[in-house]
Amino acid sequence: MKGSSLETVGVRYTGWAALNRDPLEDLVEYTCPHCGAHGTKAARRPRSEYHFTDGFVQDLHGEMSMCRNCRKSLRVSPVVLLHDRDEQRRFNAVFSADLEVSKN
Ligand SMILES: [Zn+2]
Repeated sequence: MKGSSLETVGVRYTGWAALNRDPLEDLVEYTCPHCGAHGTKAARRPRSEYHFTDGFVQDLHGEMSMCRNCRKSLRVSPVVLLHDRDEQRRFNAVFSADLEVSKN
């Protein structure tokens, strides 16, 4: 436990990965670390805050959000910017272990 607001990894799709979506929608997607529900929030931080880290463009600062399902606050950190299917595959490979643990 890291205090009252747990952390979860967020994904922000851009470029090719966001082609099938409303271009005005710029969302961060995440899985609630409290209840496991899928959640989204409007991306707030400018892309200039994102930096290339460990093979991905990430915002290590993260953003705060609240789960619509269980109403608990959470911290989405890091937020990983994904451009295409290839990056998404790599992301799943790198982060899936973490996500499984945090679902617990
Ligand atoms: Zn929740």
